[in-house]
Amino acid sequence: MTSHCCEAMADRVNVCCDQHDTSFSCPDALVALSAKFQEYGLIIHDGGTSSVTIDFCPWCGRRLPESQRDRWFDELERRGIDPWGDEVPAAFQDDRWLASPRRE
Ligand SMILES: [Zn+2]
Ligand SMILES: [Zn+2]
Repeated sequence: MTSHCCEAMADRVNVCCDQHDTSFSCPDALVALSAKFQEYGLIIHDGGTSSVTIDFCPWCGRRLPESQRDRWFDELERRGIDPWGDEVPAAFQDDRWLASPRRE
């Protein structure tokens, strides 16, 4: 369970009303959190899953956690997994992989 910088963010992130399956298809949703990358993004409602990554919270102004995108690719590479070709392990599809020991 990811903790957020403030209540406004916690209320807004990955929300969806009961009429849409995902926050990307819900016009009311503003912010998506990519759990595996620890990236917050403003949702672009173009029918896809595009978002613009943000570094600061739009509500409280605090700096958001550092993106783990590079580390995600590093860790997969270390395991010999090609994220574009091989099946990505379940732990790497959300934030569980972050609990694995960090390589120094
Ligand atoms: Zn905030
Ligand atoms: Zn909706």
